[in-house]
Amino acid sequence: MTEAIVIDGQTVAAKLRERVAAAVAELGARHGVTPGLAAIIVGDDPASQLYVRNKGRACAAVGLASFEHRLPADAADAEVIALVERLNGDERVDAILVQLPLPAGIDSQSVIAAIDPEKDVDGFHPLNVGRLWSRQPSLVPCTPQGCLMLLRTVHADVAGAEAVVLGRSQIVGRPMAALLVGADCTVTVTHTKTRDLKGICRRADILIVASGQPTLVKADWIKPGATVIDVGTNRVTGPDGAARLVGDVDFAAARQVAGAISPVPGGVGPMTIACLLQNTLIAACRRRGLSDPDLAER
Ligand code: NAP
Repeated sequence: MTEAIVIDGQTVAAKLRERVAAAVAELGARHGVTPGLAAIIVGDDPASQLYVRNKGRACAAVGLASFEHRLPADAADAEVIALVERLNGDERVDAILVQLPLPAGIDSQSVIAAIDPEKDVDGFHPLNVGRLWSRQPSLVPCTPQGCLMLLRTVHADVAGAEAVVLGRSQIVGRPMAALLVGADCTVTVTHTKTRDLKGICRRADILIVASGQPTLVKADWIKPGATVIDVGTNRVTGPDGAARLVGDVDFAAARQVAGAISPVPGGVGPMTIACLLQNTLIAACRRRGLSDPDLAER
């Protein structure tokens, strides 16, 4: 058996960032517009702070403006919502991102529902969730959107494919399922109550794994030749005591069975950020009544 194709998310994301940068430059030249992304970070979780800093750098690299807003971990719901509402009315801000998870005690759903749906860059507002499932134009959650783009690098057409999504979170599993249904796959969504998880995964031509459980998916859960997209991002300590990132799939063994597989790191992670930049640009265009930028790969 030959080893799986390793899907290179770094390269796919770099190309998307280039196309976004070109479209941002054109928007500036034609309409004098610089799209802006505002990130809200509540509390002092170091991982969240790192993510927000990286997103700010990624914005600058493609010519987008970014604004960072910090609130203390003990901020009240009303305080966070008041900030969201201020940003809803800020003309420099086209896209609003609330870094999740919010500290315990803050009602995430209320905060997300307060975001202007046209600025809801993560696509988590209930209106955008409904639009996605009813196939209306929406802002599409970045991580599943990135997964679909990676899939497209190995499958020109996924119509009719048996797709299994492991995980049903609001931010990955559910929107992933919506996108796959939209792409004419036959989709099964699995979770902790699923019976015979291994057997269901083994049926998949396309297996998307977003469980948050390090190396949950073993080689014998994978149908030979299947495409596996590993969303998991788990920080573990190796036998040498050093911290490293691993996915939800046992990559070394799985690549002996799969036809194509995305690695961690270097798979879905870079795509999520590139899609965030893309969504910021799209939101900026739509808010001004302009058509969506043409970001298709040539
Ligand atoms: P989450 O909210 O914790 O959801 C995990 C889902 O997996 C849940 O639906 C859960 O089922 C299911 N699950 C967990 N353990 C399982 C098991 N043993 N068997 C079957 N199902 C199981 O996580 P998430 O936010 O979707 O994130 C998932 C992973 O993706 C995490 O590692 C996260 O860090 C990573 N992630 C990466 C990116 C990126 O850009 N690369 C972005 C987002 C997330 P129940 O619903 O029954 O609990």
